[in-house]
Amino acid sequence: MEARLFVGGQWVEGGARIEVRNKYSGEVIGTIPEARREDVQAAVEAAQHGAAVMAELPAHRRGEVLRRAAELIRDRREEFARTIAAEAGKALKFARIEVDRAVSTFTVASEEAKRVHGETVPMDAVPAGEGYFGFWVRRPVGVVAAITPFNFPLNLVAHKVAPALAAGNAVVLKPASTTPLTAVMLCQVLAEAGLPAGALNLVVGPGGTVGEWLVTDPRVAKVSFTGSPPVGRRITEIAGIKKVTLELGNTSPVVVAPDVDLDFVARRCAVGAYYNSGQVCISVQRIYATREAYEPFLDRFVQASQAMVVGDPLDERVDVGPMIDEREARRIEAWVEEALAGGARVLTGHRRERAVYWPTVLADVKPEMKVVAQEAFAPVASVIRSDDFEQALEQANATEYGLQAAVFTRDVDRVFRAIRRLNFGGVIINDTPAYRADHMPYGGVRGSGIGREGVRYAIEEMTNIQMVVIRTGS
Ligand code: NDP
Repeated sequence: MEARLFVGGQWVEGGARIEVRNKYSGEVIGTIPEARREDVQAAVEAAQHGAAVMAELPAHRRGEVLRRAAELIRDRREEFARTIAAEAGKALKFARIEVDRAVSTFTVASEEAKRVHGETVPMDAVPAGEGYFGFWVRRPVGVVAAITPFNFPLNLVAHKVAPALAAGNAVVLKPASTTPLTAVMLCQVLAEAGLPAGALNLVVGPGGTVGEWLVTDPRVAKVSFTGSPPVGRRITEIAGIKKVTLELGNTSPVVVAPDVDLDFVARRCAVGAYYNSGQVCISVQRIYATREAYEPFLDRFVQASQAMVVGDPLDERVDVGPMIDEREARRIEAWVEEALAGGARVLTGHRRERAVYWPTVLADVKPEMKVVAQEAFAPVASVIRSDDFEQALEQANATEYGLQAAVFTRDVDRVFRAIRRLNFGGVIINDTPAYRADHMPYGGVRGSGIGREGVRYAIEEMTNIQMVVIRTGS
């Protein structure tokens, strides 16, 4: 694909072309120009015009564009899935699921576009409010900068673009430089769906330049970022006075009580740990099994890990493709080496070929090891023995992150204890932390970020409350 940038409803050239490669074969599958400073300026200006148009577009028309976009994504399902598999290295079977989820995200947004509303305020609840009538409405913020990571090049873009448009905003989108082609296809879809010119603009290039030009632009009213914690921190430092949503990392824990079907739990944990090579912000990373569950779970989990088919993501049978690049695969290999040097044991995996790293199970890890304490973002999971359920909850909580955590148990007392004790934005019972439905509120506490996505909740973050007070004179 010889792609271009998308500014003000036009496909435009920019600076030098960036090569986009198939992450498994290394073959160049497309090119796209890198945005220069003037291209970013033009995109923000176009978005300002687009925002004015979008703010006037009736809710049913915004909903109609988004509904049509959902249909067009569905029509191009296979093309989207193959592009994701090639440019992100995601196994085709999971790339197809990502496309289906993006259809859901746009469908929900098309419905939510019609439900953006405020409430009346009982002004006379205080003496100063007597004789006044009050209500508030939600107003679009204006221009939203959407900065997205490589690991879900369609659905994580959808989670920003769809609610922003549903709320009547315009967007400047900057996808990860490694995976811009899916974003190009999404712009094509929205243009075909009848989105007004300037309502969605696409710029591509390194985060350190293109991303920062957007974040610091005073015409941008809101930055919606999904990516790594250090970049999230940097954005809060440089954004200035604007709304910021940050969806960052996690070291997702799973607590396994002894009262569960361990075969099922092991199979679910294997999928949750290894799909997309573990490059998922809610990928299973730390599994705390109680004393009775530990050995039988570990055996089953190793077997389930070995059952994963590793290889070319475009092959229908494959579960685990390459990581985003060889550097990342070498990084996790080094983290595992470090854990082994510190006394950990590897039970399966820890094999690398170029960017491919095999599903790896570790035991006897220590809390301070990188594979436990930091976001692994790789197909590596550690199984840790806990004295009892209470200790497992404590260990699961002992992290600077707080996106999602999971607990497997059939005991209702344990369920409610876990909900109270786990300081995470999401607690999943009887499935892994990797579970997400696209309309649920989703986001982190602690180092995992600020704000929530999940269409309706993103709309709240992408609108301002405007209060109206009317003196009634009576
Ligand atoms: P990065 O933080 O490296 O990049 C994310 C995006 O930010 C890319 O578009 C990148 O551009 C851009 N960027 C980089 N530096 C800057 C900067 N200084 N200013 C503005 N933008 C910048 O993350 P990855 O792409 O490697 O994604 C992995 C991370 O994303 C993991 O930590 C993962 O946990 C997190 N994530 C969180 C999710 C959540 O919902 N909480 C979901 C999925 C992932 P470029 O790459 O082109 O340089």
